[in-house]
Amino acid sequence: MSGRKLKGFLVPFLLLFFLFFIFGCQLPPQAPPEDGGVEGVLQGLEVHFLDVGQGDSIFIQTAEQNILIDAGEKSQGEMVVDYLRGQGVEKLDLVIATHPHSDHIGGLIQVLTDIPVKEVLDPAVVHTTKLFEDYLTLIAAKDIKFTEGRAGMVRDLGGAVLEILHPLAPTSSALNDASLVTRITCGHISLLLTGDIEKKSEREILDRGVPIKSTLLKACHHGSSTSNSPQFVQAVAPEAVIIMCGEGNDYGHPHEEVLETYSRLGVAIYRTDLLGSIVVSSDGETYTIAGEKGAGPAENYYEPDFELLGSVNSNRYHRPDCRHIADIKAENIIIFQSRKDAEARGYIPCKTCKPVG
Ligand SMILES: [Zn+2]
Ligand SMILES: [Zn+2]
Repeated sequence: MSGRKLKGFLVPFLLLFFLFFIFGCQLPPQAPPEDGGVEGVLQGLEVHFLDVGQGDSIFIQTAEQNILIDAGEKSQGEMVVDYLRGQGVEKLDLVIATHPHSDHIGGLIQVLTDIPVKEVLDPAVVHTTKLFEDYLTLIAAKDIKFTEGRAGMVRDLGGAVLEILHPLAPTSSALNDASLVTRITCGHISLLLTGDIEKKSEREILDRGVPIKSTLLKACHHGSSTSNSPQFVQAVAPEAVIIMCGEGNDYGHPHEEVLETYSRLGVAIYRTDLLGSIVVSSDGETYTIAGEKGAGPAENYYEPDFELLGSVNSNRYHRPDCRHIADIKAENIIIFQSRKDAEARGYIPCKTCKPVG
């Protein structure tokens, strides 16, 4: 590790440690008073993954702050504003625009118009669209503080800490890879929010050695196979992933190989196209995930497109290429049409071949 790299790694790390030391993480009191407690004040953290169709919009609320990351396409702006108002939001302390693509900044036009915003943070790369121009004009007209987001920045959110892990040196020629990557930590729970970064940035983040292990992950780039490399997912090692994509979108997001990567690594998959908006609540110790259209994710697990095999003499089901298949006599083999089929018949996944998540 070169001196410069070491410094790039140590400075944000020490800063984070320092912030934690001073502010800690606001956890619920040991024994909450029966009454006399402040009603309606959030303890811990809530993160809302808004269903904006094909696009991203993430609302984060702590005891002290309201933060919005992206707001979907322009047509989704009103929905985002309504959603925020429905959550009692009167002002936003921070708006993060991950990168200038329309499925991320479009809805911000309405948000910046309707809701008072203290500060906007974006990667400060240029994009030659009318939409991006309108967005910049609005920030200037409303006299909103603008900050260039760079890896190494740390913010105390009052009850949680926000770190920017990427980019170091973004360029306008690779907008997806210019995406701001944010990690939110509250006590023992952390979330990694990755915008539309692609494999190149995933590699760059891994090479830099910044700590990225997180409890929950927002899939990179709507679950596209241009991103979500197994190495990156393995390093984050999330318990669950939230994939933000539109029902029947033109890009085929999420891509099959990405669903397979998450399933094979045992990561529970939550998708906004199937569940609507998804809300994560945490007290810093545990968390819950709830979808607007159902609890998820069991019924949304990826179903592999290969047959699953089992034996009449055991209760395990396998991939067809599992080494245990060779030990089963041909007359004892059972073929299952799906994971549901196997599990309905009392079979559980083989630990060797891990046929599904
Ligand atoms: Zn996008
Ligand atoms: Zn993009």
